[in-house]
Amino acid sequence: MNFKDKVVLVTGSSRGIGRSIAVKFAKAGANVIVNYKTNAKEAEAITEIISSYGTKCMCIQADVSKEIEVRHMIETIIAEYGRIDIVVNNAGIAIDSEFDDKRVRDFQDTLDTNLIGVFLVSKYAGNYMLKQEYGKIVNISSTNGIDTTYPYSIDYDASKAGLINLTRNLAIQFAPNINVNAVAPGWIDTEMNADLSKNYLKEEKDKILLKRFAEPEEIADVVLFLSSDKSRYIDGEVIRVDGGIKFA
Ligand code: NDP
Repeated sequence: MNFKDKVVLVTGSSRGIGRSIAVKFAKAGANVIVNYKTNAKEAEAITEIISSYGTKCMCIQADVSKEIEVRHMIETIIAEYGRIDIVVNNAGIAIDSEFDDKRVRDFQDTLDTNLIGVFLVSKYAGNYMLKQEYGKIVNISSTNGIDTTYPYSIDYDASKAGLINLTRNLAIQFAPNINVNAVAPGWIDTEMNADLSKNYLKEEKDKILLKRFAEPEEIADVVLFLSSDKSRYIDGEVIRVDGGIKFA
């Protein structure tokens, strides 16, 4: 797939799945904007790497849950590139804890980043896409938002379920020239799961038909497909990428 001269924002791309998506887009010729919240060192390192592929990349710090920061990020992109073609709403957090220890603060922070953050970025970027009469928005949900739910991530699961409905509503709002879709990954090997016990992770692996977690690149491949014109007749949809977890 060729994304030459496309302007692509990947939120939360300092590491993990977002980083992998940013690398793939840059290799495919896109001008990529790396976004992060706190991890400037990693974000700048990945921006330097992808700039070496010969496209115009930049790095913007912005907390997606803060409206003023999101607006500033999108305005900076428009000032620099004159347009925004693709947005991947990837930034997300998970604060796992026992059900009885779950605090309202954790619930609020999770919804602020995983749900309201996607709304804000989509709203500000989508309004430019409407003027361009072109755009693709891909939201990273989770199978936790569909059926692989766990009480200790009740807030995360609710945020990812909400994101699927948000995706459908955004597809309606931005039709007919902007496609809005979601990807629902199962387990991926990233820092987000670094604190979970080995035993627990093995049990979870056994529930997957393919008997392994996904590599971040395997999610990135689907994101690029949904951002390309090869998927131009897919809109308001959610695609599971879970190695067959629902059948095992
Ligand atoms: P990581 O924890 O490895 O990385 C999260 C990224 O999001 C970082 O770049 C982080 O920036 C950024 N981020 C967090 N909060 C904000 C914020 N408020 N504003 C801007 N950036 C923010 O996560 P993963 O790569 O594992 O996950 C990426 C997405 O995929 C998430 O939405 C997650 O829910 C989803 N997902 C992950 C699965 C998994 O098994 N890992 C499974 C299913 C879905 P910084 O480095 O600055 O903190």
